[in-house]
Amino acid sequence: MNRHKDDRGFTLIELLVITAIIAVLIGLLLPILAGARARAHKLKCLNNTRQIAVAATTLFGELGEKLPYRSRGCCEWGEAAEQLLPYLGYTKEVFDCPANPGNEDYSQCKMPNYDFYTDYEMNGWLCTCPSHTDRRQSMITDYSLAAYAYDFPYAPWDKRRVHKGGVNCAYLDGHAAWLADEDMGLDGPEEDKFYNKGHVIQAMWR
Ligand SMILES: [Zn+2]
Repeated sequence: MNRHKDDRGFTLIELLVITAIIAVLIGLLLPILAGARARAHKLKCLNNTRQIAVAATTLFGELGEKLPYRSRGCCEWGEAAEQLLPYLGYTKEVFDCPANPGNEDYSQCKMPNYDFYTDYEMNGWLCTCPSHTDRRQSMITDYSLAAYAYDFPYAPWDKRRVHKGGVNCAYLDGHAAWLADEDMGLDGPEEDKFYNKGHVIQAMWR
């Protein structure tokens, strides 16, 4: 009798209990895995911005007093990113944030000579373009606050942003760092919020 009972397999109740336990375990594990994935993305992205910072610093050093020139306009980040490629061994993937599926929706992000879109905004205030041609490198008051590239979209109020709570930034002294929302200055007018703490060049012109 006992052997027959042992062979019968699981009862419906046992199956339901096992299914419920597995469901609970999955429910517990998924957020942990998602968090780990987000942290890994953030770290890889920081590494990207670190390489961009070094490349941008090299470019600025070579230009001397001049700022990088953009023929298509101040907001043409793709063109600005492309200018850094020679200093990055033409590795376009450096401009690919792993948390961002791509900025193909934004024409300004496209590199003019490649079918590639940068996931980082390149600071238009740090270039020479039709609307500001009289600026020079010596007018930058603090290179360690001059953010040359940062995750785009960057604004805390932008729902399309790819990292929670901030962006990674490449600065012109060659360092890269995480810029948290609370350090962006959230108390200014809408469009100036990111600029208020001097992380972007607008606040640093003499
Ligand atoms: Zn990123």
